[in-house]
Amino acid sequence: MQKRQGSQSDQSTRQFHALIVGAGSVGCLIAQRCKTLNIRCTLFERENYLNERRRDWNFGITHALPQFQECLPDNISSRLTSVLVDPIRGLSGNDTLPMLNAESGELLMTVPTPNVFRLQRSKFRALIAEGIDIQYGKRLSNIRCEDESTQVSAQFEDGTEVTGDLLIGADGANSKVREFLFGPDEAALQPMALIGCGAVERLPAKISRQIRDVNDLYFVSYHPAGVCAFMALHDVPDASKPETWKWMFSLTWPDRSGSVPRDPKQMQQKWTEWAEKLAEPFRSAYLAIAPNATFWCDRLAEWRTKPWDNRNGRVTLAGDAAHPMTYHRGQGLNNGILDAAFLCRALSEHERGEKDIAEVLAMYEEEMQERGRAAVISSGENSLMVHDWKQLKKSPVFTMGLKALEKSEK
Ligand SMILES: Cc1cc2nc3c(=O)[nH]c(=O)nc-3n(C[C@H](O)[C@H](O)[C@H](O)COP(=O)(O)OP(=O)(O)OC[C@H]3O[C@@H](n4cnc5c(N)ncnc54)[C@H](O)[C@@H]3O)c2cc1C
Repeated sequence: MQKRQGSQSDQSTRQFHALIVGAGSVGCLIAQRCKTLNIRCTLFERENYLNERRRDWNFGITHALPQFQECLPDNISSRLTSVLVDPIRGLSGNDTLPMLNAESGELLMTVPTPNVFRLQRSKFRALIAEGIDIQYGKRLSNIRCEDESTQVSAQFEDGTEVTGDLLIGADGANSKVREFLFGPDEAALQPMALIGCGAVERLPAKISRQIRDVNDLYFVSYHPAGVCAFMALHDVPDASKPETWKWMFSLTWPDRSGSVPRDPKQMQQKWTEWAEKLAEPFRSAYLAIAPNATFWCDRLAEWRTKPWDNRNGRVTLAGDAAHPMTYHRGQGLNNGILDAAFLCRALSEHERGEKDIAEVLAMYEEEMQERGRAAVISSGENSLMVHDWKQLKKSPVFTMGLKALEKSEK
């Protein structure tokens, strides 16, 4: 690895500046923590405005709760309940994730998830984007990182270029920064033999109520034929009117065909095919939305984290950019939160003048790459196993619930 030239004198005369690519959950959390620590940073986001991309979902923060709190300033922490899927219900020490047989409706197992922060992504993102420097309409196209310089430059599709001391790729599963570090072939997501389709929709009042009676927050069901059906409450504008509640629906199934249903008709057809196999009231719920829902469909994919040359402490990764993984055990964001907290601890050490940036980044990356790789592999294995009835009960979600893998419990 090249020695970073002139870093002492450069850094005594100007303020360290981190460039963060991607204003998703992880990018915004890093920026929030940097702001509290007085570390200068700027976020660059390809969207022209926040939540321009309409697709929304919700996720649960479980084992990363302490690091999540660490990243957030008090004025945001104090308003977190407002972005829960049901702010009036708030948190509950009795939250559980029931896991059911999708064919019979029989309860297979209950996973305790006390005080899970189930957050609506779009609202959560709007909250954590407050008060930080985000430049919109900035799609990263290239990175310039010359040997003779101590700095790094981000180049954007609009022809502009910005230079800083560190570039953090928090640009999601298809990361352009990861592509810069590894080249397009080595950085590419590895497609899996699974397809996932989802939607966020309202239900007729009676069905919505029946579904909420199964569990207040969420549940998952597995079918012997291979499909996995997950439903989670997404929005409760009026607690007394179940027809106003929004639900996040997900269906995932094994597929070796190499193709993904893309046009709305194909998606609706596949959705209906699987929904017909489900026990009541899930069948009615999935069928009720089928004719009008806006579906998204993707082949699930992962990338197994491995070490990269961080150009002497100038380019790194965090969140899905570093460890894109499947979502059946809810580990992606939880690991991204750990990245945000640990990276900011490292930057803070550097800012206090205790260590060189290359040294603190090496420490951050060593822990993160090992943890991220283990989470990607375990999540991928789990996803394959929950779609195979013979393997289901041996899968990590049955043996560990939503807990972190042991090493990440720090
Ligand atoms: C249905 C579903 C349920 C899930 N449930 C859970 C759960 O319960 N628990 C959990 O821990 N995880 C869960 N996950 C995973 C979780 O959503 C992700 O791990 C997390 O959102 C990743 O955040 P991120 O900030 O790393 O990436 P993203 O949220 O993808 O953000 C990346 C940002 O970078 C921007 N960007 C991309 N390319 C560029 C570019 N070239 N230039 C500039 N900007 C760019 C994007 O526009 C985006 O804003 C779930 C995922 C799904 C799909």
